[in-house]
This record gives sequence, C-alpha cells and structure tokens, in this order.
Amino acid sequence: MPRFFDDSFSEANPYLSDENARHIGFSLRMRKGEAVTVCAQGIDYQCEIDCISQDTITLHILETAPCAAEPSISVTLYQALPKADKLEQIVQKSIELGVTAIVPVLTRRCVARLTPAEFEKKRSRYEKIARAAAMQSGRGCIPAIGSLCTLEQAAKQMKDAQTAVVLYETEGGVSFSAVSADASSYAVMVGSEGGFDPEEIAVLKDQGVIPVWLGKRILRCETAPLAALSVLMHRTGNL
Ligand code: SAM
Repeated sequence: MPRFFDDSFSEANPYLSDENARHIGFSLRMRKGEAVTVCAQGIDYQCEIDCISQDTITLHILETAPCAAEPSISVTLYQALPKADKLEQIVQKSIELGVTAIVPVLTRRCVARLTPAEFEKKRSRYEKIARAAAMQSGRGCIPAIGSLCTLEQAAKQMKDAQTAVVLYETEGGVSFSAVSADASSYAVMVGSEGGFDPEEIAVLKDQGVIPVWLGKRILRCETAPLAALSVLMHRTGNL
C-alpha cells in the first residue's frame, strides 16, 4: 500500500496536498476508494481516498496506530563528512536501520570540505534519499538531515542524548557491546575516511562522549555507522 508522509495530517486535517496530491492524482492515477497509508509524526493512518481534486486529496481515515516500524529508541548519527556519494549511502541505509536523524560534521581529517552554505545546496538531494528510504522501509516519519556543524558544535548537541559515544578504532576504549541498552536516546559519532585526531577525541571526552571500539577490524566510514546502528537496534529489541 502506498505510504505518504505529511506531519500536518490528522483527524482534524484529513487532506494531502502539494507533491503528495500530485503523486496520487497524476503519477499513480489513484481513484476514489483506493487505500493509502499516511504517516504523520510516527502515527500510521490507514485511509481510503474520498475525493481527488487538482491539488488536494481528501481522505477517509479507517484506522490509526503508532507505526510499528519506528524503533523504541532514538539514535542520532553524527557523521563526519565522507568523500563522494558515501553520505547518500549512509543516509539511505541508516534510515532503513531506524536512525532518527543524521547530522553531518566537519572534522579535521575530512577530505571532503564544505561550508555550511555549500552543504545546504546538497540538502534537497539528501532529503529526497531520506524520503525514499523511509517510504521503502515503512518508517513512520522521515528522519531529519541536520545542518553541517563543527566537532565542537556536535559535541554540545550530543549532550542531549542519554548515551553519547564516538566510534574510535584505537584499542583501549570501551567495547561498543558494553554500551548500556537501557537508554531511550543515543548519539553516535563516526569519523570520516581519515578518522579522528586525538585532540578531537579529547574534546569529545570533555563533553562526556564515550570513545567505543567495534573490535579489531577497521571498518570503512560508511560501514561503521551501519554496524553500530545494527548492534544498538538489536540490543534494544528493535532488530
Ligand atoms: N583510522 C582509520 C584507518 O586506519 O583506516 C580511519 C578511520 S575509519 C576508515 C572511519 C571511521 O569508522 C572511524 O573514524 C571510526 O569512527 C569508525 N571505525 C572504523 N573501524 C572501527 C572500529 N574497529 N572501532 C571503532 N570505530 C571504528
């Protein structure tokens, strides 16, 4: 059943407009009586089409339930900017795995170096990938793509999470499997192809971010976030 995202949708506002309306009316050529699912703020609305006009679809809500595909925990991924199209892969696959938000971070060893304004020019591409991945994986919302920030800014934001970790491949850190599964919110920072400077790890530790280890193999910057998300989702009963 086709899924559409619109956080303004509700019993009081059972309408879809703009891109959703055009997709239903023109691309999919759907008809009155056909079924659609509307996802709004983590709630799935099972609906039937009542009326299709040029720019608005009026829906009749049949059933409402929390989206079963939404994880019970929130995980924000702070990803140091990788090269080429790797961030697109990370956005797509981390959303399939249940990530709540993805925040790009410019660290010292990032080969790809963008200003926040240059990143904003790429945002619509990432948001399009996020929407498609959320739709394909049956998510109840579209995970947010944050603004490009510095490591220091990210470290401050990570304090909002109950558990904040940085994936650090240098032995001696806490094993990731020792990270508590009891928190309801997590922040996970991952380095770029070049990893982190020790001084950056010191800045993160000063802000209470715990360096954690994923074992002896060195994972690529596009593999590590997926491994960490998979472990977290599994240990919290969400995978
Ligand atoms: N120092 C790495 C190297 O020698 O290739 C470069 C960084 S690695 C390609 C990219 C990022 O993935 C790291 O910054 C870290 O965040 C994460 N990572 C990779 N393997 C890891 C491991 N075994 N334990 C913890 N984090 C790891």
